[in-house]
Amino acid sequence: MEMNVVILGAGESGVGAALLAKKKGYPVFVSDKGPIKEAYKIELKENNIAFEEGQHSLESIYKAAVVIKSPGIPDYIDLIRDLKAKGIAVISEIEFAAKHTDSVTIGITGSNGKTTTTNLTYHLLRTAGLDVGIGGNVGQSFARLVASQKRDYYVLELSSFQLDGIVDYRPDIAILLNISPDHLDRYEYKMENYIRSKFRITLNQQPGDLFIYNEENAYMQDYLNQHPPTARTMSVGAPNYDGQYLTINSMLRFDLSHSSLYGPHNRFNAHCAILAARQLGANREAIQQGLDSFANAPHRMEEITTIKGVSYINDSKATNVDAVYYALLSMEQPIIWVAGGQDKGNDYEPIKALVAEKVRAIVCLGLDNSTLLETFGPLVSTIVETRSCPAAVEAASQLAQPGEVVLLSPACASFDLFENFARRGELFKEAVLAFKASL
Ligand code: ADP
Repeated sequence: MEMNVVILGAGESGVGAALLAKKKGYPVFVSDKGPIKEAYKIELKENNIAFEEGQHSLESIYKAAVVIKSPGIPDYIDLIRDLKAKGIAVISEIEFAAKHTDSVTIGITGSNGKTTTTNLTYHLLRTAGLDVGIGGNVGQSFARLVASQKRDYYVLELSSFQLDGIVDYRPDIAILLNISPDHLDRYEYKMENYIRSKFRITLNQQPGDLFIYNEENAYMQDYLNQHPPTARTMSVGAPNYDGQYLTINSMLRFDLSHSSLYGPHNRFNAHCAILAARQLGANREAIQQGLDSFANAPHRMEEITTIKGVSYINDSKATNVDAVYYALLSMEQPIIWVAGGQDKGNDYEPIKALVAEKVRAIVCLGLDNSTLLETFGPLVSTIVETRSCPAAVEAASQLAQPGEVVLLSPACASFDLFENFARRGELFKEAVLAFKASL
């Protein structure tokens, strides 16, 4: 079919969409206003896909029958407004990929826990012997998966930006883990816009589909009261956990004592993943085996090492207040809390009591630490400022006593001092290990 496909943005999602469009025989043109990574340029060239970088050539873009917009590009920029005004469909790569597969998909979204729950669900299904792929907002884009492999099931991590661009996409199982304030700069600083965006995961679901959600989340409860879902629902509350066993529906018990999934938030994630796996036929033994062998991704409550009785934890992925809430809650020891970075307009109210109770000292790791100093100055007697990981580790190690924990859980984005959260986590780990080696 002759349908000009124009792709805006040549990251993992744009390149995946380009590969799929090419494979399906559409004329395709990729345009990125910034520089394109070398590896992606090579891939585009190898596949004879036309592209430009450093500019958007409007005459080529306006020829599109459909524009696939990368999730990083906001809706409010002039180009997107102009395209819509001209009646050109603007969709996300998720929508495009979904149109070209009839595999069962499990879509997972939420403000926190997406990557963990996506990885875990995938791992449980694979352990149960299902033919399953994983991608979306983690690893390979959905479009790349569809272009390169045919699987019976795909487990997809979906960000709110990806959900904004769906039209007909309908996950067979949708999981909405939680909603807490995040990314509000992209939603006109209106929480209701962000909530609506997250609930788009249920937009096209049918009564035969399944929607798994968090029954304790007030934002979700309010929304669901006003917009009852079409799909069959399963709600998940606070985990029923006795220190060893997670009990589900008061019948099924899973031993989490050998699992890397610690903390109440991870038990909640596990509960959701288990429900999805059960729904798809995984048996109890396979699920238990999967829970035992699951390794969480780095930078999420990752134990680095113990030095002189002080344990060091890298939770660099905690870029909002809710993630930090659970990090603090998960700790039994007194905490030296390493926090700070680019503040996205944080409201620290929900963690003030926990900080007062559990945090013995704060090491700020950010360019501008004024909000942290102001908010926590009255609650925590020791607060120091640092601007690099080695300096933060040095300060934290001097403050920490045996039996305490040094926890990097920043509550902020990393872009003031680091390329991204992963780089921040790597540098923190390096600094901790260098400190250990120097002793
Ligand atoms: P996401 O992909 O949504 O960012 P991750 O699994 O990468 O989620 O975890 C991001 C941060 O949120 C980590 O600090 C992690 O410990 C924390 N986290 C994980 N699951 C939850 C949850 N269910 N509720 C709150 N925080 C969570």
